[in-house]
Amino acid sequence: MQYKKFCDVYERLGATTKRLEKTKILADFLQKLSNEDKKVLYLLQGRVFPDYEEKVMGISHQLAIKSLARATGNNENEITNQWRKIGDLGKVAEALTKTKKQSTLFSHKLTTKKVFDNLRRLSELQGAGTVSKKISLISELLTSASGVEAKYIIRTLIGDLRIGVKSSTIRDALSLAFFSESERKEAVSEIQHAYDMSSDLAQIFELAKKGRKSLSKISLEAGKPIKVMLAQKAKSIQEAFEKCGKPLAAEYKYDGFRMMINKKGKNIILYTRRLDNVTKQFPDIVKSVKKYIKGQEFIVDSEIIGYNPKTKKYVPFQQISQRIRRKYEIERMMKELPVEVKAFDIIYYNGRNLIKEPFAKRTKLLKKIIKNKKYKITTADQKIIDNEKEVQDFYNQAIKDNQEGLMLKNLKAPYKPGSRVGYILKLKKELRDLDLTIVGAEYGKGKRVGWLSSFILACKGKKGEYLTIGKMGTGIKEKKESVDAKEPGISFNQLTKLLKKNIIEEKGRGVKIKPQIVVSVTFQEIQKSPTYSSGYALRFPRFTALRSDRKVSDIATLREVEKDYEAQGEK
Ligand code: ATP
Repeated sequence: MQYKKFCDVYERLGATTKRLEKTKILADFLQKLSNEDKKVLYLLQGRVFPDYEEKVMGISHQLAIKSLARATGNNENEITNQWRKIGDLGKVAEALTKTKKQSTLFSHKLTTKKVFDNLRRLSELQGAGTVSKKISLISELLTSASGVEAKYIIRTLIGDLRIGVKSSTIRDALSLAFFSESERKEAVSEIQHAYDMSSDLAQIFELAKKGRKSLSKISLEAGKPIKVMLAQKAKSIQEAFEKCGKPLAAEYKYDGFRMMINKKGKNIILYTRRLDNVTKQFPDIVKSVKKYIKGQEFIVDSEIIGYNPKTKKYVPFQQISQRIRRKYEIERMMKELPVEVKAFDIIYYNGRNLIKEPFAKRTKLLKKIIKNKKYKITTADQKIIDNEKEVQDFYNQAIKDNQEGLMLKNLKAPYKPGSRVGYILKLKKELRDLDLTIVGAEYGKGKRVGWLSSFILACKGKKGEYLTIGKMGTGIKEKKESVDAKEPGISFNQLTKLLKKNIIEEKGRGVKIKPQIVVSVTFQEIQKSPTYSSGYALRFPRFTALRSDRKVSDIATLREVEKDYEAQGEK
């Protein structure tokens, strides 16, 4: 397919803010799309891989500017200035390419395949010494591109497409494109289910085109990532019994991070909740899984918690969070920050898909195949309970053991990948905390000069937009050097480095940041406020942890903020 034709679709999608119109534009496009070109569905999401592939293009604005300078023959500073003025590097690329093109006699026609191939090659080039190769790959595309094409190449590279299309819009468009009106509602949930199972929109496109029967055939496969089932908050123990039935299973809610453990023959593969493959970071877990879980093939759902190697006391998530992204000195990390697996569910075992089996059966199998070994791997502490008093006692015990509270589970329920359904409820200590993203910041003064030092936080609105909810500057360390393994947390220096790649706009000391990272924030209370676009402000927000195991789509929603605000009033 000509890239130009594909860019027309981007343009039409970007020209409307109405979701229904976007869905129609996409449905039209999908109807005409051949299987051969199905990978353009990744490009629609600003990607070149399915969701679960953790490879990234790793292109900063600076590198994009360098490539643009090379391709158009303009000066880097000039491009930077224009970018600051306009705020959209894509538009800058469009304007520069247009003027350049008047004097160029010859240019190749770009295909989506060529764009795809070059972008994929970018993600294969990692580490030092690859910068010039990256610039060549990008400028090769840009020299063959028209204005509009250059705009979208640059926007894809810096991860800011600005077309307002989410995976749910693509899901609705698939249903509109391939199903009759009477089937459409059911098809939407079948497409969603298939997507939750495979996390690969190009594959779902192919199946949807064939019909609902094909969609329903999609099955689990050990080794392939799958979205995890999420929990809802329980207002009270009574409500938990109403939703889960009697008796229910109560388990400790461990303060760690989620991990899906896959075994396929000799291979162990570990995925986080955001479907990142973290097998290399956790050779200790790989070893424990081989030794203490019986079975040829399985997918086990679990929480990973850290403990102090000397005192053997469990530690909060912040203290082990750095192990998730750590790519070097793994051996040292393993010793300084050891972890234990708390397995709590199983969805696939030796060729059998268990997601439709009741939790009671799954948990029974789990206990059968795991040989509990403290500080390596054990099943979650669990009690089957039919009265409120016992839940309360178990909850008190969990808090005393420094865990976050309880998870209350419906014993009859299936496993619903990717859904926040009422089959699992969480009962937490009244902790005022939220997972949020950073959408802006200000450069500091005095001893913080050169660092971003005041961070604008945002939650997610009803349409997936980002709504600001306060400014955060505390909880972050002043240290110039990196905070090391023994010291949990993050320094201004580290956070600045992390965010700098995502700066979209700069004005004076203020910068706008593309929402990409997730931070856990505690606060004293939520207040109504006209200053922020959410209508709320957090009082005394404090950074507690970088959640590199979570995606921006996981952050708190405005609805959750509203609920927490109301709950405050009731107290
Ligand atoms: P929170 O911030 O409260 O952890 P969340 O939005 O991050 O909530 P939820 O799914 O709502 O995630 O809360 C459940 C999370 O708790 C799970 O994702 C999992 O990581 C963790 N967890 C700890 N212990 C258990 C357990 N026994 N069973 C299920 N999940 C558990």
